[in-house]
Amino acid sequence: MNMKAAFSQFYKRTPEQRLAILAETLGLSETEQQELKRRAAQGDAPLLVENYLTTYQLPEGVAVNFRVNDHDYVVPMVTEEPSVIAAASNGAKQLAKAGGITATVRSRLLTGQVLLSEVKVYASIDDWVALHQNELLDVARQAHPSIVKRGGGPVSIRTRDLGEGFVSIDLTADVQAAMGANMMNTMLEAIAAVVQNKLHRATLFSILSNTGDRSLTTATVSVPVVQLAGDPEDAKQVAKRIAQASRVAQLDPMRAVTHNKGIMNGVDAVVMAMGNDWRAIESAAHAYAVQDGQYRGLSQWRLEDDQLTGTLTLPLPVGTVGGATKVLPLVGINQKIAQVHSPQDLMKLIAAVGLAQNFAAIKALVTSGIQQGHMKMQIRSLAMSVGATSLEVPALTAQLMPLSDPSEAHARQLLKQIRN
Ligand code: NDP
Repeated sequence: MNMKAAFSQFYKRTPEQRLAILAETLGLSETEQQELKRRAAQGDAPLLVENYLTTYQLPEGVAVNFRVNDHDYVVPMVTEEPSVIAAASNGAKQLAKAGGITATVRSRLLTGQVLLSEVKVYASIDDWVALHQNELLDVARQAHPSIVKRGGGPVSIRTRDLGEGFVSIDLTADVQAAMGANMMNTMLEAIAAVVQNKLHRATLFSILSNTGDRSLTTATVSVPVVQLAGDPEDAKQVAKRIAQASRVAQLDPMRAVTHNKGIMNGVDAVVMAMGNDWRAIESAAHAYAVQDGQYRGLSQWRLEDDQLTGTLTLPLPVGTVGGATKVLPLVGINQKIAQVHSPQDLMKLIAAVGLAQNFAAIKALVTSGIQQGHMKMQIRSLAMSVGATSLEVPALTAQLMPLSDPSEAHARQLLKQIRN
């Protein structure tokens, strides 16, 4: 079959027609087609993406033991990675014993850009925007009046000289409970139209910035050193090694990337469970990690006297309404489980999860090593990957555990023996 002809107008087909085309052109078996059909979602979720075919499912679990700002939380997490939820729960338990995590939201604003190019004299744009800032803010308000009615809306406008003739007009807005991408873009386009009409300048583009530096959230915790091991001398060593490992992530970008990946293991899992845009949170976090010119660990652990103090600051421009939050059926339930009533609640919880995840990872890394804790979950994944059913997984896992370096070949062989 001619691929080009088969996929012509693909977007106009129903999911069933798309499946039939894929099956024919790419040779999907009857079983594979049934699997794709079986996993298809009900409701409005299929309308979220183009060329919808089926629903790709990821596991959701809940991390427990979280104590944040003197309240107890259970946190839904969506991830395909074994050990993440166990580590978050374990880290949270140890931090709760120390009195729990304190989380604060520094600000909750969104910024967007109208970009101008080929500007010869920056001051001409800067002066014009300064002179017309009230008018421009009014235009933005009128472009999305409902956010003003909700108590939010445009807050400030300024310009930046980017060099090489590029100038950015930055709009900052209070987007209330939404992530705010679309309402920001609407306001920016209205400002761009005024720039074009009044300043007689074509704009290059108008779009929100994912920088998130006006949506910073900080989580902190102080752990008494004695709590870190049964023996007081061992505890001192553990605290010292955690602080040293944290310092390495400040000095070495190679380590910082992995340090931050561990934090994002928890952060992304909560962001996904809450139906938010995790690509936006990822890009904001990594940009923040390199804010002084060197990529560094997002969290720091410091040893002072008999306390190990951890701090994590993250840009978290998340929303509790809009986007996919009302379309994905589990988000509302997850918000209820996590007792999230506002973006600020969510920001604090995500930062707390990032900090607990980071604590659990570094502590394991500088004590038993990460592999020991991960082994059971990895072996369970290995058992599933060779086709063990839920009834066979426990027996196969038990047989793989004593092996020093179990491989896929071992798993297949042992599964065969179990089935015989
Ligand atoms: P929406 O476009 O869904 O806008 C938010 C909606 O929530 C509005 O319809 C608003 O109503 C409604 N709403 C109800 N209650 C409130 C409240 N208390 N506060 C604020 N709004 C409320 O979503 P966003 O503008 O938040 O955009 C998020 C989506 O944009 C995400 O899916 C993201 O992936 C995507 N996106 C991201 C980009 C990026 O990150 N670069 C770029 C483009 C899109 P009303 O209109 O009446 O005010």
